[in-house]
Amino acid sequence: MPQVVRSIVAVTYVRDIDASRAFYELLGFGEYSSGRAATAAWTVMQQGEVLILLGSTKPPLEIPRLPLLFYVFYADLDAVVAALDAAGIQMTRTGHPPHALGGEVKVADPDGNTVLLGQRERSASQAPAADDDVSVQFSLLKEAAVVVAAQGGTSHACEVRGQGGRPCPNMAEVKLADSLGDSAWVCLLHAEDILVTVPNAFIASQGDRGIAAFLARH
Ligand SMILES: [Zn+2]
Repeated sequence: MPQVVRSIVAVTYVRDIDASRAFYELLGFGEYSSGRAATAAWTVMQQGEVLILLGSTKPPLEIPRLPLLFYVFYADLDAVVAALDAAGIQMTRTGHPPHALGGEVKVADPDGNTVLLGQRERSASQAPAADDDVSVQFSLLKEAAVVVAAQGGTSHACEVRGQGGRPCPNMAEVKLADSLGDSAWVCLLHAEDILVTVPNAFIASQGDRGIAAFLARH
């Protein structure tokens, strides 16, 4: 007998179920069912046949920080971007990669999980994007690398280690950081990987004066 799968449900534990429900409503999901007890709460968020189950416990589960990622494809990316923008949610445009010719946007949910929003095909009203080329997937990364190169480049090797602890053979082209203050010089390939899978990672721009400059003035 063939194994017929009807659907698959993405499940994530969240700290604050009300905050998370509000966020996923912005993405177009509506509450399908929910339950609440003294020590746990859950809500199934649905749009069409797509389901996300949000769960929370009291006290909260000790959940190790994981690179959880939801990728949600939309018929009209602009509509969801407008809703997120109106709610003041920070977004990063990641260009028009081959799997999302209509555009792609990265956001973090209230727990810091990465949520990527994409539109598979360019719509008729959209002008061809300048970065449809496979080689220009992450235009922001390219821009950052150009700034680094314009300032004399870097002598750093990529700090990512592969299997067996062998260092990545590429030269670093950009510096990434996260909200915990960690940073690393990495090649563009690894930078792309990190930006997609690490919540709250961002490009540490070399062009801006940093916090040290601010502190020095005060
Ligand atoms: Zn590398």
